[in-house]
Amino acid sequence: MNYIKAIIVSLLVLVTLPSVADDNGYPANYARAPRFKALLFYSDTAEEAHVQFASQAIDFFKRLTYGDGYILETTTSLAGYDYDSLSAYDIIIAVNASPEGPEQRAVFEKYMENGGGWLGFHAAAYNDASTKWPWLNQFLGCGTFYCNNWPPQCVLLTLDTTDSPVTKNLPGEFVAPESEWYQWNPSPRENKNIEILASISPRNYPLGIKDVISFGDFPVAWRNPAYRMVYLNYGHGDRGFTDATQNLLTLNAFRYVVSLSPKGNPFEK
Ligand code: ZN
Repeated sequence: MNYIKAIIVSLLVLVTLPSVADDNGYPANYARAPRFKALLFYSDTAEEAHVQFASQAIDFFKRLTYGDGYILETTTSLAGYDYDSLSAYDIIIAVNASPEGPEQRAVFEKYMENGGGWLGFHAAAYNDASTKWPWLNQFLGCGTFYCNNWPPQCVLLTLDTTDSPVTKNLPGEFVAPESEWYQWNPSPRENKNIEILASISPRNYPLGIKDVISFGDFPVAWRNPAYRMVYLNYGHGDRGFTDATQNLLTLNAFRYVVSLSPKGNPFEK
């Protein structure tokens, strides 16, 4: 009996030992050295539902670091980051926050204008007449916040394209977990430079219980090819990472932005 146990233990040790062999074509440090850096930028003082999303986003992106695939750092403020320190990151994951004040905005603009990466969710793109940051609108490729459904709810999403690394492995339609969904005016679809990836299907209309949206073009995932960015509209509440299909969309978008890094595509190294 002990003999069998010893064999089992030896086998377990063998399969759990990190592989250092390079005779299979992989470099010896394969899957060990962190290959890129991400800065997760969030607010812990925003409205409760946005803070909930942030804490789950931290968990989600932390899990992606398992095996040291990349370095994840988090911050609740961009104060103190200059262009050089921001440029150390291949991507900023803007969970529920945006740069504050002219200095932070200027540093962020310079970062994005020079090949920086941005994956933004929900409130990270929020802007209205009081924001007074025209650069943000041309970066996003849309106008200001127009309206939202209320309460947060599930919606049927329709892909606008499967001809993108962000959507190629997703079903043409899927039901997204409950969220507050922002509509913009003008819609990013009116900007010919914007690539719309997914939209809320008109079949959801009328959408909402208290605040009801009954019509309108409703893109919720897009990219502005002039920048290394993807915007995903969900991110309100504690359901943002409860659906495998939406998680795959999040992962794809993250991976895509990183893959275009001017330092080289870390997934091809
Ligand atoms: Zn919200």
